[in-house]
Amino acid sequence: MAPSVKDYYEILGIDKKASQDEIKKAYRKLARKYHPDLNPGDKTAENKFKELTEAYEVLSDEKKRTEYDQFGKAPFETGGQGYDYRAYTSGDSFDFGGFGDIFSDLFRAGGGPQQADQKGPDLVMGLELTLEEAFSGVTRPISFNREVSCGSCHGTGAENYQQCDKCRGAGRISTSKGFFKTQQVCNSCGGSGHKVTKACTACAGKGGTVRTESLKVKIPAGADNGSRVRLKGLGGAGHGNGQPGDLFIEISVRPHPLFQRKDDNILLELPVTFGEAALGARIEVPTIDGVAAMTLPAGTQGGQKFKLSGKGFPSAKAGRRGDQHVTIKIVVPKSIPEKSRGAIQEIEALYRESPRKGMVKQHD
Ligand SMILES: [Zn+2]
Ligand SMILES: [Zn+2]
Repeated sequence: MAPSVKDYYEILGIDKKASQDEIKKAYRKLARKYHPDLNPGDKTAENKFKELTEAYEVLSDEKKRTEYDQFGKAPFETGGQGYDYRAYTSGDSFDFGGFGDIFSDLFRAGGGPQQADQKGPDLVMGLELTLEEAFSGVTRPISFNREVSCGSCHGTGAENYQQCDKCRGAGRISTSKGFFKTQQVCNSCGGSGHKVTKACTACAGKGGTVRTESLKVKIPAGADNGSRVRLKGLGGAGHGNGQPGDLFIEISVRPHPLFQRKDDNILLELPVTFGEAALGARIEVPTIDGVAAMTLPAGTQGGQKFKLSGKGFPSAKAGRRGDQHVTIKIVVPKSIPEKSRGAIQEIEALYRESPRKGMVKQHD
């Protein structure tokens, strides 16, 4: 199936502010209607069902939903170390390939005693960008420490282990109390069904080691304060066959000396001279990606606003760039040489009435 281009909220027919309950309800209702089992051989229903499921998988997960709200379906690709893993993708499914899967497969193949499966903890790392970097997107090398399962013992912490003789490897013990049979976790092995006879020397029996990861992370164009990029599987090690957690790169954008960002728009205060404002002028305006030309009409007032269409931030949702809003600020010379005073007085004579007319009560 080609990646869906429709908005996930539209697909589920819900509002952007829908609660988790509403999302679930909407999905259940539509999934019942389009389920392939109820529509055998109906390709349209099948595609519709896949589309629904994709939308539900993202919106029902608060983290994915936040990312989606911020970035839409723009793929956040990351590079480095030769792994082609993606932090967030749209496509056939949300079966994210990555580090985590590679490692857990490795461990599974290695065998070893069973442990309760538990996903590893997520890590969060801050990354500061300039406004220009946030605008165009940037690839940054990062380096961080995380716990990974020990490769020697496959996360078990044991070099040698034997079956627990109390529970015979079951991890649970049945006890009879009258007619009732109850099962309890084996207190000899803690439920793992084995006992370590020799701790792993590589990890000192801890099952995990701290590794420093260095890689490049690609921040997509349009990132804002608080935007997060998820690197699947780069968090802390999971237990047993549990997946590792994820690494979140949280963006903060440094204030810019000229521009201010508001949603997908950029605000700029632009100084012009009295002459330019009064007579009109063709002036150059800085924008986030170069200089734009702007025509100032004759009689422009201080505080007047102009819009440079499409000169704002890229918007994944709208599929177009925002605008730059220019607010005019008229500057006057701080000191006027004696020989120029006459000219200014001539200009003053041009005002037919006081600009403060009606603001100040006149006394007779
Ligand atoms: Zn036991
Ligand atoms: Zn080990």
